[in-house]
Amino acid sequence: MSGIIVWLRHDLRLRDNPALHAASSGDGPVYPLYILEEAANHDWPAGSASRLWLHHSLAALDRQLRDKKSRLILRHGAAAKVIRQLLKDTGADTVYWNRRYEPDRVRIDQGLKQELDRDGYSVQSFKANMLFEPHEISNRQGDPYKVFTPFWKTCRSHGQPARPLPVPARMQPPRRWPKSDKLGEFSLTPGIPWDKPILEHWQPGTEGAERNLRSFLNRIDDYETDRDFPDRDGVSRLSPHLHFGEISSREIWHQVLLRENRAGRMTPSSRVMNYLRQLAWREFAHHLLFHFPHTGTRPLREEYEAFPWQHNKQHLLAWQRGLTGYPIVDAGMRELWMSGWMHNRVRMITGSFLVKDLLIHWLEGARWFWDTLVDADLANNTLGWQWVGGCGADAAPYFRIFNPITQSEKFDADGNYLRTWLPELARLDRPWIHKPWQAPADVLRQAGIRLGEDYPEPIVDHAEARRQALAALQSMNAARRSQPD
Ligand code: FAD
Repeated sequence: MSGIIVWLRHDLRLRDNPALHAASSGDGPVYPLYILEEAANHDWPAGSASRLWLHHSLAALDRQLRDKKSRLILRHGAAAKVIRQLLKDTGADTVYWNRRYEPDRVRIDQGLKQELDRDGYSVQSFKANMLFEPHEISNRQGDPYKVFTPFWKTCRSHGQPARPLPVPARMQPPRRWPKSDKLGEFSLTPGIPWDKPILEHWQPGTEGAERNLRSFLNRIDDYETDRDFPDRDGVSRLSPHLHFGEISSREIWHQVLLRENRAGRMTPSSRVMNYLRQLAWREFAHHLLFHFPHTGTRPLREEYEAFPWQHNKQHLLAWQRGLTGYPIVDAGMRELWMSGWMHNRVRMITGSFLVKDLLIHWLEGARWFWDTLVDADLANNTLGWQWVGGCGADAAPYFRIFNPITQSEKFDADGNYLRTWLPELARLDRPWIHKPWQAPADVLRQAGIRLGEDYPEPIVDHAEARRQALAALQSMNAARRSQPD
């Protein structure tokens, strides 16, 4: 065999990598390739935090490959052109990849496969990144699901996902490696002092993913009780690793089951099922984006196209910077900026504040998250934002408006999360830390806080903002009713 190019994308791992595994089982040389596809996704070019992560993830993957006497070939440009060139450079006749599901990417992959097939190359794609691929799951009528619970029930009726594949024992290196770009030439790391704090919180690459999984498996029994509390170590923090494919969801699934078996349970406890159910939300998100490809930028529920959003730049800026005057919102937005990640409960609270208290379009929020999250993922981000905006599948109804004070009191009762991310409020006790503007003057003085100077006054009054949000919803509904059928 003259050689196989393995085009790696959202599967930056050696273990449970079907394309790499299949390529390595033959005698011919294997060419692991990563392409920086700058123009692959016009609406959503990779954000700053994702690019930073990618840089370190590619470096980690190359190290792993080199341990196996292989290496990662880096190229940039349009995928079709790069792959054709590499086929020419190497004399390889086969291309393997693991499937991806974002609408733009599906189009690129399908077009390329057709082209290469036509020209006599062999192309094969594999299932690697989902437990259940979007086309495998449908309702009785053969339609995609728009509600999570029956989707999950159908997924479960498909039985266990396949077991993960081992790291290939050997990848035949070519006699001569083709030229590769240098990782530094990709200019992925931002030129601002931003990478350091993020890298203090994360270790991009499979090693970091496996470390987070091991640590989480020791805590998984508490997931159900702790997952909603941002000051507890309650969640797995696997989302960026999953997004970049440094670990597979099959691997996580089976490691969880193995841990249950070792604890003497042949079927997972309901607490553990709760975690597997969260993994299925990721599946649901990809299912939705695949079947409703317009939803990356437009609401699934069409009536929300006419929602009377407001465009207050000052409010948007205050939200982005964590200066709204609502501590739980500000703590979340600062956690995001400083660590590239935000706890799910706080994503819901900050998201709700943007679209309901500030009446700012959910896409503005989605775009900010896209740029700042290390786990920015088009399917999950779209699902999350349309959920908070009330305009997506199985979404929280728009009229259910989170109160940022009661959410804060309920999910961070002692204010530990707030103190971590808002050092200026560190000396304020509860109940005032959840609502500093209501604190008596002497309490503020003793805590060393001058409202409006050290920490902002609230930029909107929540009760009034809530009234306005409900009025906006009513006006959208009234406009819809008055339209001819
Ligand atoms: P865990 O609770 O440990 O869950 C394990 C895995 O399950 C996660 O890594 C993730 O892959 C999946 N998962 C969990 N909850 C969800 C969910 N609600 N939707 C989809 N998948 C889920 N997640 C992203 O990965 N990327 C995003 O860009 C993203 N944007 C979001 C935006 C908003 C407004 C909201 C409300 C949620 C968003 N989420 C996103 C979903 C969720 O907040 C994160 O997946 C989760 O916080 C990641 O932390 P974890 O790995 O510790 O999660």
